[in-house]
Amino acid sequence: MRMLLLGFLVAAAPAAAAVPLDTVTARADAVEPKVIGWRRDIHRNPELGNREVRTAALVAAHLRTLGYEVREKVGVTGVIGILKGGKPGGVVALRADMDALPVKEATGLPFASTVTATYLGQPVGVAHACGHDAHVAMLMGAAEVLAGLKAEIPGTVMLIFQPAEEGPPPGEEGGARLMLKEGAFTPLKPDAVFGIHVWPARAGTLNWRPGPMMSAADTMRITLTGVQTHGAVPWRGTDVVGQAAATVQELNRLVTRTVNPAETPTILSVATINAGVRHNIIPDKAELSGTLRTFDSAQRDRLKLDIEKSVTGLAALYGTEAKVSFTQAGALTYNEPALAAWIAGPLSEAAGRDGINPATSPITPSEDVSLFMNEVGGVYYFLGISPDGVAPEATPPNHSPMFTVNETALKVGVKAHVLSAIRFLEQQPPRDHVRRTSQ
Ligand SMILES: [Zn+2]
Ligand SMILES: [Zn+2]
Repeated sequence: MRMLLLGFLVAAAPAAAAVPLDTVTARADAVEPKVIGWRRDIHRNPELGNREVRTAALVAAHLRTLGYEVREKVGVTGVIGILKGGKPGGVVALRADMDALPVKEATGLPFASTVTATYLGQPVGVAHACGHDAHVAMLMGAAEVLAGLKAEIPGTVMLIFQPAEEGPPPGEEGGARLMLKEGAFTPLKPDAVFGIHVWPARAGTLNWRPGPMMSAADTMRITLTGVQTHGAVPWRGTDVVGQAAATVQELNRLVTRTVNPAETPTILSVATINAGVRHNIIPDKAELSGTLRTFDSAQRDRLKLDIEKSVTGLAALYGTEAKVSFTQAGALTYNEPALAAWIAGPLSEAAGRDGINPATSPITPSEDVSLFMNEVGGVYYFLGISPDGVAPEATPPNHSPMFTVNETALKVGVKAHVLSAIRFLEQQPPRDHVRRTSQ
């Protein structure tokens, strides 16, 4: 009975004739020199978050030439391209981020950035030290391959070129949040979103995991307020400097001694302490800030409460007042398990069976692609870009002034984009009902 039913279902819903892998490979090969050219051009001309004017114009002009419907200035400089395939079907989105970082490049590449800008009032170098130049170029390449296959595509492809992934400048809105606020997903809402980040790993490999992929990030701020006194008569006031030191120790204890490290990676780093102006005045105020990285929303809530308890407990001991606040800096990037299992098919077509790792470790930075994924579900995966013969651990990490992208990997990224989109529309994979966390 079960067999019969399955047979009936298969017969009743004939799969659309699949676009052959050979076709996609040939077209990705053909576009590769252009992808490398775009990547080098964007690399040489990096733009900070919310300032990606040149990059966005390059993208929009390319998409228009290919026949995409194009929306510009969605979230400051964001660009959305829509390609309606020749056959009816669903909607799938592919996303790339466009912004560079305030980093002075030290790679020595012939197309290295020499661009400078002002950031937070300081003159800074600007560089694509997170590889978003490669992200833009790969999605432009995928755009071209997809446009060439338009007649065969059963559904619609939405390309999202997003500004300010690293965060907008202080006082400005930006990133995925602003794109969504300005209607990125209205009226056309994709059924799923897929995206790639370049990362130290063997060049051309694709790496991901089901469930929590990248951490939620919360910025922690602590203010300690006491009574100022002479450094020679500490008993006449309070000691917020000593308390700040004790607070750091206590918070380090909290994460190392109350979290099961085998269950979920968790990081709490206190990164700044500011107090005092002179060697013989114990000040009345100390300020600390740090970042909390979690992969589980219940644990995140528990830790925030425990941090507050610890900090206020120490304040009672030291006779001061303490305020603790958290602001969300990044949501958890959560790969929908059903899609994370399904995508092994198209990604192994792109990178070969030996080129995929569907059970990679979680990654502790956060990503605002999570906001798109929380809306519709999706998978975010990592493309290895380590130089040939260099181990991932020896590869300069993202955000390093020495960060580079092995350009042999770009073609794999183009294929992965194209195949994840086309196969999603062709195969309409099963979905999980719960696609996101409460974060
Ligand atoms: Zn980054
Ligand atoms: Zn990045």
